Amino acid sequence: MRVSVICTGTELLKGTTVNTNLAVIGDALSCIGIVLSAAFNCGDDLEALKKALVTAAADSDIIITSGGLGPTKDDLTKTAICEVLGLKMHRDQSISANLAAYWQGKGRSSGLDEQLLQADVPENSEALNNIVGTAPGLWVSGRLDDRDIIVAALPGPPAELIPMLNNQVVPKIRALCSADTFTRSFMVAGAAELLVQQEIEPVVASEPLETAYCASVEGVRVFISGSDKKLVDEKYTTAKKLFGNKVLIDDLLSLPQDISRLLRQRGMTFGTAESCTGGMIGAALTDLPGSSDIFMGGIISYANEIKHHLLGVSQEILDSKGAVSRECAEAMVRGATRVLGTDTAVAVTGIAGPGGGTDLKPVGLVFIATKVNDQVLVTENHFKGDRAAVRKRTCAAALLQLRELLLEK
Ligand code: AMP
Ligand code: MG
Repeated sequence: MRVSVICTGTELLKGTTVNTNLAVIGDALSCIGIVLSAAFNCGDDLEALKKALVTAAADSDIIITSGGLGPTKDDLTKTAICEVLGLKMHRDQSISANLAAYWQGKGRSSGLDEQLLQADVPENSEALNNIVGTAPGLWVSGRLDDRDIIVAALPGPPAELIPMLNNQVVPKIRALCSADTFTRSFMVAGAAELLVQQEIEPVVASEPLETAYCASVEGVRVFISGSDKKLVDEKYTTAKKLFGNKVLIDDLLSLPQDISRLLRQRGMTFGTAESCTGGMIGAALTDLPGSSDIFMGGIISYANEIKHHLLGVSQEILDSKGAVSRECAEAMVRGATRVLGTDTAVAVTGIAGPGGGTDLKPVGLVFIATKVNDQVLVTENHFKGDRAAVRKRTCAAALLQLRELLLEK
């Protein structure tokens, strides 16, 4: 299944808006084993949009568009789709009724005529429910140059696009794929891409299978696909066994989801004491619905005073070893479990940069302490990259380190 993306919006070309939608779409599809064939960016210009649709269609089965579905003059996506695929536009009565109900809910008798343009849809299209905004997405089936083509048109605002993509578009694409290709995937936590590939390739060599590897700071996601479901299942099982408990148990689990699962299984609670990550580890856990049974809370102990007064890191450690030290990380994690009353905790203290580094303590130096019951593990890490990368790597490494300790229990 070949999928490409067209992001519209002059603001993307000017650089005033960063194109995060492309990254979100690329990531969601790679989680079902599809790497985007191509991505296009064009401004709010009908001719440019039509040209992008024609070019993308030549090499795609599905085109996902982002933006340009609203009621203003620069929203041209539906017009471009109709013109390129030779489809007529008509006003959809049930979308109009939904819009009217929305306006009534806001205490208005009706919307502006222009706002009703959101109810105009190309023929052969199915509306995709928008749980956040008023413009529905569209799943349009058409033909171009004697080939079938689907255009999934999504709204530009990420808050509207993301749920529509994950809840409606990805499942539809997955269903279309499984008609001819079967994909299984698993995640190897904290592993290097090349090493994972070297282990797996001998298992699948000389079989009619395709493999793909997707590396992130959390580890490597492995995809095995082919048309023979039995063979895919068999090699998936063999390949998974190579990595023992480094494999996250479920196909589509993320590292925070896996940590939550392990904590729940053991009936343990979790808390954080974060310095350089400023709450990102707690955020990763609380991103997951229902995390309140395992995550008790976190202390963002950025200043030394907070490390001392709230977590009980001794003034002696702060003066003699410094806040970025093995001893401080250990005292922080002990303080966290005591203050938060949890069975487990992670504590991180480091230098995210760009300033603050010295020869002895360079930017990227991060101490990570994890505690599970009475057992404490402290590691010294040197992360490469800018501030954002160091903080992201710290989060992943802290969760991986906690995972190792949990698996020993
Ligand atoms: P639109 O649906 O084209 O009216 O887009 C509405 C708003 O969504 C824009 O003003 C941007 O703030 C945001 N937006 C549009 N496209 C993207 C994108 N590719 N990535 C991130 N935000 C976007
Ligand atoms: Mg726009």
